[in-house]
Amino acid sequence: MNQTVSLRPPAPGAPPLVQERGQREVFCGLTGIVWLHRKIQDAFFLVVGSRTCAHLIQSAAGVMIFAEPRFATAILDQRDLAGIADINDELDRVVSRLLERRPDIKLLFLVASCPSEVIKIDLVRAARRLSRQHEPRARVLSYSGSGIEKTFTEGEDACLAALVPELPAEAATAAPSLLVVGALADIVEDQFAAIFADIGIADARFLPMRRASAMPAVGPNTRFLLAQPFLAETARALESRGARRLAAPFPLGAEGTTLWLKAAADAFGVPASRFETAVAPGRARAQKSLTRHIERLSGKRIFFFPDSQLEIPLARFLAREVGMRPIEVATPYLHRQLLEEELALLPSEARLFEGPDVDRQLDRCRAARPDLTVCGLGLANPLEAEGLPTKWSIELLFTPIQGYDQAGDLAELFARPLARRSRLEV
Ligand code: SF4
Repeated sequence: MNQTVSLRPPAPGAPPLVQERGQREVFCGLTGIVWLHRKIQDAFFLVVGSRTCAHLIQSAAGVMIFAEPRFATAILDQRDLAGIADINDELDRVVSRLLERRPDIKLLFLVASCPSEVIKIDLVRAARRLSRQHEPRARVLSYSGSGIEKTFTEGEDACLAALVPELPAEAATAAPSLLVVGALADIVEDQFAAIFADIGIADARFLPMRRASAMPAVGPNTRFLLAQPFLAETARALESRGARRLAAPFPLGAEGTTLWLKAAADAFGVPASRFETAVAPGRARAQKSLTRHIERLSGKRIFFFPDSQLEIPLARFLAREVGMRPIEVATPYLHRQLLEEELALLPSEARLFEGPDVDRQLDRCRAARPDLTVCGLGLANPLEAEGLPTKWSIELLFTPIQGYDQAGDLAELFARPLARRSRLEV
């Protein structure tokens, strides 16, 4: 039976939160491989799963024709499922063959799936065994991308959390350093690195790193900024290594990016004037790029189904920077500590839901008839067929959206479906 629990406002001034439990409609955590394999350039992701898992990754990533693939699925067959074959022996053979054939692979992730979890294959132990066998040639780690009780962005969280124990310890005498956590497009990472350098924070480092040999050191002098709101497990793992999280809204839009950068500047004692000089040109570019979208987006009602966990930062950005009206903002999980600064900026008329029941939410959406609905792929077609314009939330993970120079592109992602709809209506 579904339960609905109303809670107090999650932050002063923020809308009250309603928690529901029931049916949900989300992608699975394997999806993160699609953007992570591009980011860590000498990593390989070996999913231990079924043909369904293989199809999901292949169709999400498209066919790679330019390079050797950096992910694959070791398919569990009937003999494995019936316990006839020794899965560990087979896995060892597959990994040895792969590493022999591909000297470019330095970091291999064994990725658990629903089938491997249901038949309880211990990939943590397998990864340890294989690492002992193949180090220093390659390191083998494991994490779960299974769709059981997970949303698709939690795949990245699980992957980064698996990396944290592998990061070298910073020197005891190390000066305070900044670590940016969460996969960002290379171009966005380069822009942020340049701004941090301008502010005077030298050598900002990034997790995930681009190469396995460049793992950032971590320890009590590390201050970290999350670039994504869905990295709760990674944040906990970093804190357990002594690192301290810098609380901030997420770097979406001119305001979000400025506040995010400011959190780092304050932690590193950057004078206000130096900060202002460094960020002013980028902020002005971002604000200018948003003006051309305000006319189309201002006053439009937007409704979020829970999917990417980006819903709250997106709603904040759309409300405050282009004048949209978020009427319902639903997120699969609400990590209050990580979202506190975002919640304080969310307009109070937005209805805030954690883990809503999809059928009830569909009823509310149909009754509200928003101008735009942000949802997963599975809901988009039926809603479009009912005349409700949609935006696929997964696109927000595949597109560079963070930082000043992407603010206009981010707004355009929401303006485009409205423009398309108005053309169809002409
Ligand atoms: S991990 Fe689970 S949800 Fe994801 S594709 Fe495989 S079987 Fe489906």
